[in-house]
Amino acid sequence: MVRIGVLAIQGDVREHLAHLRALGVDAVPVRSAEAVQSVDGLILPGGESTTIGMLMQEYGVDQAILSRRQAEALPMWGTCAGTILLAREVHGWSPARLGLMDIAVDRNAYGRQLASFEVAVPIPVLGEPPFPAVFIRAPRITRLGPGVRALASHDGSVVMAEADDLLVTTFHPEMTPDRRVHAYFVDMVAHRRRPRQ
Ligand code: GLN
Repeated sequence: MVRIGVLAIQGDVREHLAHLRALGVDAVPVRSAEAVQSVDGLILPGGESTTIGMLMQEYGVDQAILSRRQAEALPMWGTCAGTILLAREVHGWSPARLGLMDIAVDRNAYGRQLASFEVAVPIPVLGEPPFPAVFIRAPRITRLGPGVRALASHDGSVVMAEADDLLVTTFHPEMTPDRRVHAYFVDMVAHRRRPRQ
């Protein structure tokens, strides 16, 4: 059975854990460097990226993640704020972050009018029907590096992308009953790459 951690500093932790458990995954909250060592995959939830980034540093979780990523593949999925934490480049004021994925993001780019909305987004890798995507003060992905594959777009921007063993969604799949994105990540973790040399 795969064991997947959810970074449990702030944000939508419970919702992710519940979806993973419903899929039969051993799902655990992660808030220490030791806990990072014990998981096969890690979710960075939505929330407030400034707070999560700052506390991640304070708890030494960021270093634990970076050294594990150097030593072996650790599949990771960032939702919303988690996307910001994984992005190599952030426009404007940027929080402390991991910067592991070759993408650029613009925080809160949808503006006040569209702070939160739900829209059905076609995601070909998940099949039919379109996915009920909930956006809450979502970042916009403004650039994808050469190794990054777009998996879904909405309103002219990529909203789901992957590169090797990193997945990002600027929306919140943990906030809807549809568990297909969680199942997709569980599959990524189960088939992860062999440890690097
Ligand atoms: N805009 C928030 C941030 O910058 C992210 C919002 C979210 O995760 N729902 O952290």
